[in-house]
Formats: sequence, C-alpha cells, structure tokens
Amino acid sequence: VSHRVRLISANWKMNLNHLEAIALVQKLYHLLRPEDFRYAEIAIHPPFTSLRSLQLTFEADRMPFTLGAQNVSDQLSGAFTGEVSAQMLSKLAVGYVIVGHSERRHLFGETSEQVAQKALAVQQAGMRPIVCLGESHEQRESGLTLDVLTAQIDPILNTYPLEALDTIVIAYEPVWAIGSGESADPEVVEGVGRSLRELLRRRVGDEIAARIRLQYGGSVSVGNAREFMSLEDIDGLLVGGASLDAEVFAQLIRAA
Ligand code: PEP
Repeated sequence: VSHRVRLISANWKMNLNHLEAIALVQKLYHLLRPEDFRYAEIAIHPPFTSLRSLQLTFEADRMPFTLGAQNVSDQLSGAFTGEVSAQMLSKLAVGYVIVGHSERRHLFGETSEQVAQKALAVQQAGMRPIVCLGESHEQRESGLTLDVLTAQIDPILNTYPLEALDTIVIAYEPVWAIGSGESADPEVVEGVGRSLRELLRRRVGDEIAARIRLQYGGSVSVGNAREFMSLEDIDGLLVGGASLDAEVFAQLIRAA
C-alpha cells in the first residue's frame, strides 16, 4: 500500500567475506537506476565482519543503500563472549536488524521471549527490528499457522514501547519456504498478511497497525517478486539466496 515505504532486504546469511561484499554492492549499485531506489528502500544485511566495509563504501560512493544486520545480542554490554550489542551496530550506521530469523530460532534455540528482548534492544539503540515469523510445514498442515504466528508476535507486542511500534517490520517467512526453492502460494501469503494486519489492529489499534510494514520471505525470485509485492498487505521482501548475486538481485528489484 502506497503510504508505507516499500522495503526490499537482502539477507546474505553466512556468505561473502568483506572483499566480496564490497565488490557485490559496487556491482549492484551500477546495475540499479535512481528510480529503483525511489521504488523501495533497499537494505543489505551482510555478516557482522562486513558492516564497517559496507558503511565506508556506501558513504564514499554515496550509495543510497541502508545497512542492516542479521542478529544482535539481547544484552546491552558486558561479559557475553562472542556477542555484538545493538549500540555497536547503531554506531556503524545500521538501520535495520533482523531478529528471530527461523535459522536463529531452530538452529540456535532462540525463543520468542529472547527475540522480543532483541527487538527492544534494537529499538532502544535507535534502529528498527525486522521481526521474522513463520510456521513449519507440520504446523501449517495441522491448521496451526495463526496460533504459531500469534505466539511469536505476542511477546514483542507486550515488550516493545507502544508509541514506537510503527518502527517494527514484520517478515512473514514460512519455514518450509526458506531456501527451499518452493515459495508460498501468493494467495496464502495474502491471507496471512490480512490476518496479521487484523491481529495488529486488535492489539495496537488501527492507526499503528496501518503503519507497520509486512514483508514476505521464502524463496523470493525474479519470477515471483512482483506477485508478492502486489499483495495488499505486503510492503516488502526479505530475500536470501537471490540477493547473493548482483545481477539476479538487481533484476529482482526491477521485477518487483
Ligand atoms: C531468508 O533468509 O530470510 C530467506 C527468505 O531465504 P531465501 O530467499 O533463500 O529462501
């Protein structure tokens, strides 16, 4: 919908070293036209090790990409070996932080309560969380999709400051569609988008619910990007595999 700024986000996962990262964004920038950046905000989420390099590259060449991170600590600072704080990310001009990606939930055991704490840490450091939600194949088959999504989002709605809730982005990513080459049926995504918007209306009121952006993620490709973007409640895309090649990702943005 037109009043919500579209957001197309590239989740690189654990791919590309910092030299490859710089090369990819330079190539991508040259393939895109100014109107592509007017169509949507384009965010790049590299591994932590490339954030500083991309920050400097974007600044030096005035590339209008937004920088994003893939994860963050739920703690502010201290003895948490291996963790990275929200404050550290905001110092690198990071605008968005993905929290609760299904790989974090399933491979690293993150709970919805931890994800809510991470989202809050992101907000308190002046950035915006992209909160990932999604049901497994079995949950969908058992008709539990909306219960699962509600259980995943409720801790956020109970923790996050109400007046700032319009800064969250919700990415609906069915687990079985991620990295599988099998995207969800657009009609299913349309229905889930409508249900999520309705749930938000009931919880936080019409005005805030109308401002929260919803993304779809899960095997988004050049061939299906347009269809997902044209859905009433879907304002953006979270793209994994198809964002790792500059030509493919540029084509995807154009197609959207
Ligand atoms: C993702 O990582 O969030 C994702 C949707 O991956 P892919 O596009 O590869 O399915």
